[in-house]
Amino acid sequence: MHRENERKTMQTSMVCHAINRSMGATGMSDYIELINPQTRICKLLKGGVVIAEYKMEQCDKCSTLSKLDEFGYQRGQRGEKLLWFCGGCR
Ligand SMILES: [Zn+2]
Repeated sequence: MHRENERKTMQTSMVCHAINRSMGATGMSDYIELINPQTRICKLLKGGVVIAEYKMEQCDKCSTLSKLDEFGYQRGQRGEKLLWFCGGCR
């Protein structure tokens, strides 16, 4: 039982190491961004630990996914949310 746990921990650290190596040249090697396409929830991992979680939204102009913020909403006359634009398209 104890041995099994030990082996799992080793495997996990090996996976993290491999990811870090593949992103090594970016200078952000500790950070991994995971986006769930269904929920559009983005998780920011540092060293394999979730340090931030935020909602992503697709820009209605250029179709790129960006971190959602309330200022991006293009509102109608009664304040209803019509579209959402990323920072570059506002
Ligand atoms: Zn855009």
